[in-house]
Amino acid sequence: MTDDLAIQLEDALATFAEVVLPLHIQRTYTYRIPLAFEKTVQPGMRVAVQFGAKKIYSGIIQTVHHRPPTGYEAKYILSFIDDAPILGPQQLKFWDWVASYYCAYLGDVMQLALPAALKLESETTVCLAEDFEELAVELDDREYLIIEALQLRKALRIQEIEAILQLKNTLPFLKSLVSKSAIVLKENLEEKYKEKKITCIRIAEQYKTEAAMQDVFTRLEKKEKQLAVWMCCFQLQQQMQHIPKKTILQKTGVSEASLQTMYKHGYLETYQLTIDRIQLESMPPQEFTLNEIQTVAFNNIEALFQIKDVVLLHGITSSGKTHVYVKLIEAQIKAGKQVLMLLPEIALTAQIIQRLKKYFGNTCMAFHSKFSDAERVEIWNKVNKKEVQLIIGARSALFLPFQDLGLVIVDEEHESSYKQQDPAPRYHARESAIVLAKMMGAKVILGSATPSVESYTNALNGKYGLVEMHQRFGEIPQPEMILANLAEEGRTKTLVGNYFSSTLVNAIQTALNNQEQIILFQNRRGYAPILECETCKWIPKCINCDISLTYHKYNQSLSCHYCGYQIQHPSNCHACNSSFLNLKGFGTEKLEDEIGILFPEARIARLDFDTTRTKHGHEKIIQDFEAHAADILIGTQMLSKGLDFEKVSLVGVVNADQLLFFPDFRAHERAFQLIAQVAGRAGRKHKQGKVIVQTANPTYPIIQYILNSDYKGLYAYDLLERKKFGYPPEKRIIKLSIKHKDLKIAKEASWQLKLQLGTLFKDQILGPEAPFVSKIRNYYIREILLKIDRDNKQLAYLKQGILFHIQQLNKHPHYKSVWVSIDVDPV
Ligand code: ADP
Ligand code: ZN
Ligand code: ZN
Repeated sequence: MTDDLAIQLEDALATFAEVVLPLHIQRTYTYRIPLAFEKTVQPGMRVAVQFGAKKIYSGIIQTVHHRPPTGYEAKYILSFIDDAPILGPQQLKFWDWVASYYCAYLGDVMQLALPAALKLESETTVCLAEDFEELAVELDDREYLIIEALQLRKALRIQEIEAILQLKNTLPFLKSLVSKSAIVLKENLEEKYKEKKITCIRIAEQYKTEAAMQDVFTRLEKKEKQLAVWMCCFQLQQQMQHIPKKTILQKTGVSEASLQTMYKHGYLETYQLTIDRIQLESMPPQEFTLNEIQTVAFNNIEALFQIKDVVLLHGITSSGKTHVYVKLIEAQIKAGKQVLMLLPEIALTAQIIQRLKKYFGNTCMAFHSKFSDAERVEIWNKVNKKEVQLIIGARSALFLPFQDLGLVIVDEEHESSYKQQDPAPRYHARESAIVLAKMMGAKVILGSATPSVESYTNALNGKYGLVEMHQRFGEIPQPEMILANLAEEGRTKTLVGNYFSSTLVNAIQTALNNQEQIILFQNRRGYAPILECETCKWIPKCINCDISLTYHKYNQSLSCHYCGYQIQHPSNCHACNSSFLNLKGFGTEKLEDEIGILFPEARIARLDFDTTRTKHGHEKIIQDFEAHAADILIGTQMLSKGLDFEKVSLVGVVNADQLLFFPDFRAHERAFQLIAQVAGRAGRKHKQGKVIVQTANPTYPIIQYILNSDYKGLYAYDLLERKKFGYPPEKRIIKLSIKHKDLKIAKEASWQLKLQLGTLFKDQILGPEAPFVSKIRNYYIREILLKIDRDNKQLAYLKQGILFHIQQLNKHPHYKSVWVSIDVDPV
């Protein structure tokens, strides 16, 4: 047999694995599986592999096969990190879908999907060379220090050496030591997740009999402290399986030393116990019954699930959608299935989880990015082992390793925060949930008071089932919608100051007189968005971004909401030195000021990004308002989310026009949704609430739909507009953002890319164009919009074409550092 043939034969018998690596790379890499593991290897296991010259990473096995890679020789897998898969084949299939649909790299999906602590990266450690002899080499002082430390401890990490030398850059010394063959550098993989352990205490085996115990009691009679410990252990062992050392120390107040003595005499023993970081408290289940409307909705949903995979639950705010979800979840849990409930915002999960824990106790857990790495790994493992059945989470919860998913609920399905903006994959959690559910044979509920135009279209054309609830729970009447015509009041000179209609001001006064609460909605934070010189019209702008700076009164600063750049409020114009500087427009901070002047006796609170920066800032403001510690709550869209306030009788939308005339094809939909949502906060049992909408454009069709709470009217109007201009759901859109620090290169590259894409997309390419904010953090931006017919069968092919052309662009020496991000179905 020739050598060649032998190699071919060996290769043909060898087993390989496709491994996903947590790196910004497009594909999987092929590694060879060591013979010893051929029988046990399974997709979904983590393995340590070398990638590049030195680095070692933990990758995930995607598939196992017998095809050697072409173009390179497969390296061996270095080791297996897990004995069992940490996720199932469906999750891997789902990763693939996310990557290809959203034009992202599989490595990016892995980065997103796995909790950080499950992704290992090698760390360089420094060790003494095995044949190192101290006297054989000459060392300088610093090198000597390193060697000395290594003789005490076998291995040191780079950071530890930096600490020893008190130097930031230790590489020259390490290099020198390597060249003298004194040390070696090793790449180690370190598992970042460690189980949490506590020390527990138990009575030694030989003293466990009644007689032996009594014996110890007498022996310790004079030793007060030890006796206390003995008594304590004796009592606690009857109450609990494991006695934490901490508990003993706390209960008896003795010192560690007394315990030591008792170990020495052999009375007590210690051991380590692994515990869960997330301690679950159990609560008694809470019973409730659905009202008639909810029951009908529930039955309809169950019936529709026989013929549809997805059902849209269109229920107005406070119609009681959550209770319908609870009944649906209950049925799944009884059947032994897992359920995922997605919420658009982390702030909401805390509230909802408290409500749901009452019904589902310990089988229900929250999951979002505010959890620590270690906590996320624990939840991951519990879901993988099916120890939890209900997960309530933000969009990233989609990637948990569900084993037996029966139902996915996407609450507030219209929310744009379901779409990830940066980094890639820019996935939409609602659309991805539908695909995941399909892969796992699960059903999907989309819930909203104001469905997205996309979902409603799918419901009307029969792709999804549709179930509606048009009444608030508990006969609370819907709020009265009132128009405040700013244009008219301007003419009749009844405006109060520059911003308030007498309609709104009078209503606030009445509510205050009745000891009722008021919410004022203004979707812009800060004091004023623009400062302008009266003389020469100079406007201070950010030095990094193409946007005017917003004035914040609390710290007398002008700041950029895109990059955080901040300067002191100037006293003079930087262009003409005039001291006449005007503030234009207004944000929540100014609103708070002005309302404070108009209603000096009212207690005012503010809820926006600036007042909720601290960890519990958000909760605190909400709780205070609930406890009526404030009369008026002013806020941005943070207000609109799922809050229930018993005493709010009036909601004011201070500037509806600002929402409507935003340059975006979703502006109408969004304005309607936001106002409907804040309006939902008004009204109490047996008393109708009021919503006052201030606008200077009362005849504008959208304003009329808002005032009539006419969702269907809005939908029909908006759909026509979108058809006319070729926006979703009529067409699909892919947005390319081309970014570079040099404006000229950004412009040229975007034209070059348009040229390249021309053969694929013909006249369906819009742009390149400068977006609304055309420079962010010193990067100039140009955008290209690609439109694709909804029924185009070439979608996957076109997306591959986009990736290919971006790679081609980056190969051009001139455009190497041009950054192009792809946003499929932008929101
Ligand atoms: P939605 O999510 O549709 O806006 P909620 O779920 O917040 O509505 O329900 C509105 C209010 O009615 C809540 O205070 C909720 O506790 C209450 N509620 C709804 N359904 C029931 C029920 N079947 N039994 C008791 N209370 C209910
Ligand atoms: Zn000026
Ligand atoms: Zn900026």
